[in-house]
Amino acid sequence: MPLEEYRRKRKFTETPEPAGHVRRAARSRIFVVQKHDASRLHYDFRLEIKGVLVSWAVPKGPSMNPAEKRLAIRTEDHPIEYADFEGVIPEGQYGAGVVMVWDKGTYEPKDGIAPDEQFRRAKIDIALHGEKLRGGFTLIRTGIGSTGPSERKRWLLIKHRDQHADPSWDIESPELDHSVLSGRTLKEIAENRSGKTRRLGWHLSQAQQRAGVKRKKNIGRELRRG
Ligand code: MN
Repeated sequence: MPLEEYRRKRKFTETPEPAGHVRRAARSRIFVVQKHDASRLHYDFRLEIKGVLVSWAVPKGPSMNPAEKRLAIRTEDHPIEYADFEGVIPEGQYGAGVVMVWDKGTYEPKDGIAPDEQFRRAKIDIALHGEKLRGGFTLIRTGIGSTGPSERKRWLLIKHRDQHADPSWDIESPELDHSVLSGRTLKEIAENRSGKTRRLGWHLSQAQQRAGVKRKKNIGRELRRG
């Protein structure tokens, strides 16, 4: 059943993340990249395929440099609503830490092959229309023919050589550390502060706010440690 693993891993009474639902066929498909400061900082790359967000964790984050092939590890499908989730997952919950909507937009499959068909073939060619990520990308599963379940989850995310390619891309540059949803940095989300450019439209229950405050102190410490 779609989203079963996603829901099994989470307690929706404890986490501000959405339980979500499977979306009916939409005219344009979305993609989202979330910067996630969990036990290890990583980026979650998600593509709308068949009404859910098919997801990969990209430890080094996507690159606009075609020379950098990024490891992308398949994770459980997420509901479409997750694309707008930004905030703090309380400690003790699955994926505890800060989540930022790092990039978001629409995408189209290349050569008119439906994304679910491309996904079955373990090679996805798409064009992204985001604020930070633009143009052609390929996701390709490695270790095809290997039987181990963890091997089968390994993909590579590669930028195409097109007019959007950027050999000087550096994902750690401070100008890339802002939410396309709220304008906030990871630190501002952790501290539940509004960003420089935009006000925050994220609502918290009292319990979540308390959990956020507790987390904030820990994040502060982690950030200082660098
Ligand atoms: Mn994650």
